[in-house]
Amino acid sequence: MAEQGSLAALTRLATDLTARLVAIDSVNPSLVPGGAGEGVIAAAIARLLAGWGFDAATPEAAHGRPNALGVLRGTGGDEAPLLLLNGHTDTVGVAGMRDAPFTPVERDGRLHGRGAFDMKGGLGAILAAGATLAARPERPRGTLLIACSADEEYASLGSEALVAALRDGAVPGLPARPARIGAILCEPTGEAVHIAHKGFAWCRVETRGRAAHGSDYASGIDAIAAMGRVLTGLARLDTETLPRAAHPLLGRPSVHAATIAGGRELSTYPDRCTLEIERRTLPGETRAGIAAELRALLAEAGAGSPGPAPTGDLFFWRDAYEIAPDVPIVAAILDGLRAAHGITHPPIGGAFGWMDSALFGAAGIPTVIYGPAGAGAHSAEEWVDTPSLGRVAATLVATADGFLA
Ligand SMILES: [Zn+2]
Repeated sequence: MAEQGSLAALTRLATDLTARLVAIDSVNPSLVPGGAGEGVIAAAIARLLAGWGFDAATPEAAHGRPNALGVLRGTGGDEAPLLLLNGHTDTVGVAGMRDAPFTPVERDGRLHGRGAFDMKGGLGAILAAGATLAARPERPRGTLLIACSADEEYASLGSEALVAALRDGAVPGLPARPARIGAILCEPTGEAVHIAHKGFAWCRVETRGRAAHGSDYASGIDAIAAMGRVLTGLARLDTETLPRAAHPLLGRPSVHAATIAGGRELSTYPDRCTLEIERRTLPGETRAGIAAELRALLAEAGAGSPGPAPTGDLFFWRDAYEIAPDVPIVAAILDGLRAAHGITHPPIGGAFGWMDSALFGAAGIPTVIYGPAGAGAHSAEEWVDTPSLGRVAATLVATADGFLA
């Protein structure tokens, strides 16, 4: 187990690094027009990594949207293990926040500020672990890649570019045919080990009616009432059909109506209504399967309706994600938790929200999600638990020791 002194030092380091990152505005400009983006924070992270002995770079995922990468080369050559530690540098906006968002404040074992929890705390723990590993007099066989991704909060441009670069061998200094490869995504999990999360589909539906004077029932066809039939089917799908599926870590899939618009004025039959739907998926559910589910829903809603059949499409898709509990990276983090903290039965679970782990998983990089405790992601008050930062950093160090040996 980590000695008291070293755990305290690691906690201090991880907390200070997190505070430095919180102090840098990195609001996602795709979410908030004029947002600062990842340029300044990526450069700051690359400078830190380079100072500790990493080969650091800030390749752009899109114009003005850099990732920050650091490679700590092992001694093992092209077949040595490769461990990726990943987090995202962007945050959501700061409107309505209670405290100054970019002035990190530490009190009572909590560090407050935008992004402290989601997820500059995870990045602080990753960097503290990286600094610790780089300071060792000897290198392990395996290579450590620290990758801080841009744009996770919007379209995951950063991790998509990273996955493409890894596939194309475009990240210098990595083993070409690693004997084992694994990733830890340090999104906040309250120190639980997550090995699955849901995916989602976004769908759009339109019903058409016929505009007419409100008194002219013979000519008017009500597009909103037609959408009502779609909504009834949607509610039945959510309460009757979807509860029959269940995943041991993720529960059941779900669907909800997200936005609706239609109608012109009180005395006119509405000729058009649009609905946006979000369907949250379990591992194994496919884009084609959900598209077929939507078609069946629309066919049922349209049957016997006075107007044209409703139309719709599935326009955005993210896979759900799951890895087997016996892949090397899961075994390695369980060993790491035991070595660092004496924890023998850590909570193993699933996260509800979608994460970049699905992108890494689809690229053949088994990914565990494990990060600090705290609260307030995307909220008016956001904080990360500072002792948790130290424990996460210590787990990362111990996990890397095992995986890269
Ligand atoms: Zn996040």
